Order: sequence, then C-alpha cells, then structure tokens
Amino acid sequence: MTMFDLTGRVAVVTGGNGGIGLGMARGLAQAGATVVVAARNAAKSAKAVAELQALGATAAAIEVDVRDDAACSRLIEDAAGRFGRLDILVNNAGTNLRKQPQEYTVAEWRELIDTNLTSAFVCSNAAYPHMKKGGGGKIINIGSMMSIFGASFSGPYAATKGGIVQMARAMACAWAKDNIQVNSVLPGWIDTELTQGARRDVQGLQERVVARTPAGRWGLPADFAGIAVFLASPASDFVTGTAIPVDGGYSIQA
Ligand code: NDP
Repeated sequence: MTMFDLTGRVAVVTGGNGGIGLGMARGLAQAGATVVVAARNAAKSAKAVAELQALGATAAAIEVDVRDDAACSRLIEDAAGRFGRLDILVNNAGTNLRKQPQEYTVAEWRELIDTNLTSAFVCSNAAYPHMKKGGGGKIINIGSMMSIFGASFSGPYAATKGGIVQMARAMACAWAKDNIQVNSVLPGWIDTELTQGARRDVQGLQERVVARTPAGRWGLPADFAGIAVFLASPASDFVTGTAIPVDGGYSIQA
C-alpha cells in the first residue's frame, strides 16, 4: 500500500520511549520510517530503539528534556542533521499533576505548560524549515479527552491539551501552502505509566472508564500505531487541522 508507505521518511517522536509515543513509533517503524525517540530516560530510550530496530527500522535516541526550549530546538536540528531530512514530528511528550484548580502553584502550572504545550510549539517551529525544504511534512500533536471535556482534577493539563489542538489548527492554516499537514490525536483513557497514577489517585476511575467506553476496555499503546501511520503518510494529504479521537467511543457516548 504505497499510500501508507513511509520508506525514506524521518520521524521524531517526543516521549517516544514508552506508552502512546512508543505505540506510535512502532507503527511508523513498521511502515518504513526512520524513527528518532526523544525523551529523558536514556535506558528506557535505548530499550525502545532496540525494539524499533528489531522491527527492521533505522532508529536512534536523542536525550532531551522538553521543558528546555533550547534543547527542543537542538533535538530537531540534531535529528535532521543526522538523517539528512525531517518529515514527521509527533509532539507526544507530556505529563499531568492531578489536583483541584486552587491547589496548584504557578510553578506547577508553568511546568505543565512547558512540558505539554511550549515544547510542541518550539519543536514544530524548529521542524518547519526542514519540512518546507523537503517539500512537505506531517505534524501530529497529542491532545486528550481534556481537549474536549472538563474534569475537576485537570485544570492546567486541560489548558495544555485544549491549547495544543488550537495551535495545530493555526499551524495547519499557516503551513498548508508548504504541504505540511498538522493534526491532533485525542487519546481516550489508555493504559500507560501516566494513567497508573490516575487510577491510584482517582477513586473508581478504572471501572468508570470501562463503563463509559463503548469498546468496553481501556486503550493500549498499540491502538495508536494505525492513526500514526495514517496521519504521517500520503493517505492523509488532504486531512489537516483536525482532532481525531482514538478513544473506543468514549467521547461519543451520551
Ligand atoms: P507515559 O508517561 O507513558 O509517557 C510519557 C512520555 O513523555 C515518556 O516517554 C516520557 O519520557 C516523556 N516525557 C515526559 N516529560 C518529559 C520531558 N520533560 N522531556 C522529555 N520527555 C518527557 O504517558 P502516555 O504515553 O500516557 O502519554 C503520552 C501523551 O499522551 C501525553 O502527552 C499525554 O498527555 C497524552 N495522553 C495520554 C492519555 C492516557 O490515557 N494515557 C490520555 C490522553 C492523552 P521520559 O520520562 O523518559 O522523559
């Protein structure tokens, strides 16, 4: 299926060493892309790279803390420099801190904004000239159900996840002329390290999610391979600025 073929394409996946990011990286690797995994934990990244290489892909890790703007720019330059081009950027690195709105410090608010939103802004802007030079590109931002809904325990996180979707729309408008598509993926409740904390902190969450999800289960990282390939490939060349839930129907259940 040439429309899903990513042979010769170079992808950077922030937070690609685990969870949803690794699920997407596996899909991109299987479709033929070279994948750069960008995260802090070097041991975890090395393991992810070995896994991607075992799938037959060229893969590498670049250590980065996405809260550091300069490091984000360096990441993109290093990846593009090392592999000669940059075609795909997945802005996936993210974190959460669950409290009632009035309990956050401004420092905690900034930490979430920097990790989840400013990093995507800086990486996308750094990627833009490389994609333009290459004749086009694909940017995939990871939103959340909190891009759509409110929850008492997710004020700053929801701000980042609403923001990343709107930022994708603005960039989609700006860069369509350069054949760069910018879309968002909105995961439902997915079984990763991030949500292990949520299930501990929020009583009854495990069961509530299953009850509300028409698919009747939590999502898995593997559920993100297909959407990553679609949004990174020529199959989605006329799809831009949209936000696609990958949630087993969670967001359409009345
Ligand atoms: P994980 O905790 O499993 O993965 C988070 C990833 O982000 C890790 O690879 C981590 O790597 C990386 N990361 C976090 N902080 C930084 C940082 N400062 N610098 C660089 N990398 C960082 O969580 P998920 O896979 O669940 O989350 C991935 C994305 O999906 C996030 O944006 C999250 O908000 C979003 N999401 C998740 C949902 C879910 O149900 N799981 C639902 C909706 C959205 P390392 O620690 O090595 O730096």
